[in-house]
Amino acid sequence: MIGKIGIIGAGQMGSGIAQVAAQAGYPVRLLDMSEEALARAVGNIDRGYQRLVARGKLTDDERTAALARIETARDMAVFRDCDVVIEAATENEQVKKEIFKALVPNLGPSTIVASNTSSISITRLAASTDRPGRFIGMHFMNPVPVMQLVELIRGIATEDATYQSIRELAVRLGKQPVAAEDFPAFIVNRILLPMINEAVYTLYEGVGSVEAIDTAMKLGANHPMGPLELADFIGLDTCLAVMQVLYDGLADSKYRPCPLLVKYVEAGWLGRKAGRGFYDYRGEKPVPTR
Ligand code: NAD
Repeated sequence: MIGKIGIIGAGQMGSGIAQVAAQAGYPVRLLDMSEEALARAVGNIDRGYQRLVARGKLTDDERTAALARIETARDMAVFRDCDVVIEAATENEQVKKEIFKALVPNLGPSTIVASNTSSISITRLAASTDRPGRFIGMHFMNPVPVMQLVELIRGIATEDATYQSIRELAVRLGKQPVAAEDFPAFIVNRILLPMINEAVYTLYEGVGSVEAIDTAMKLGANHPMGPLELADFIGLDTCLAVMQVLYDGLADSKYRPCPLLVKYVEAGWLGRKAGRGFYDYRGEKPVPTR
């Protein structure tokens, strides 16, 4: 049974996971290397709870109690008595492996480690820890409080007991788990990211403007968001990282990241979180940049 939950990375995903976990009654330890990211996360979580209070879905007392269950930290010693630690740091294999190296000495022997990676091999990440049997992929969707799905990915060594505990946790967090095999980018991003990458090619080749491409896919394919708007929402660095994992892992040229996506990331135009991507978010409403 999972009692206390640790989370590494207080960005879009880590803060969303902390929000739903604390709301479900779990004590949460939320760690980031950046003090600023932690402060921003707590602000965003509270705004999320306030919206639920305004809609009558949470009482003010429940909001205060949920917030009090979240402890922020920069030192991995806070994870000592956690039953699971969910890693939701930057989508970079080296960064994640360094995190696991620093994490392992701070864990009890039975603690499960879960990664929220969008694309990286769970088997490979698990092998960088002392506990491949108690390592699993737990892939939440963005924004975590809204999206129903959690993909569960077993590495080659993941034990059944680990899978069952994490499946139960996902259900208790109000999510619908779906099992995916450990192939690059699993199910959702194997399908979604090549579409987003193709939308960037469509822009790159001048087939349509940002607005035309997004409007075409919203009205022509009934997508709730256009692919470029969605790319900005996910983060262009994360989109590029997933395409690189697909390209390297499946060795098929159809996954080649669009050079325009590479250029945007190199420019630091990472999407919504950076204030600029395919849209400029610095004004009152998003303005297409091309
Ligand atoms: P983000 O850039 O918003 O946040 C990443 C956070 O990790 C930052 O706050 C950063 O300071 C922190 N971090 C980086 N290195 C660290 C370290 N060594 N120690 C502690 N903290 C560290 O990114 P995000 O969108 O929240 O993505 C996080 C993970 O979730 C990635 O693996 C990503 O692929 C995955 N994911 C993202 C989405 C999405 O739509 N953005 C969806 C599902 C899964």
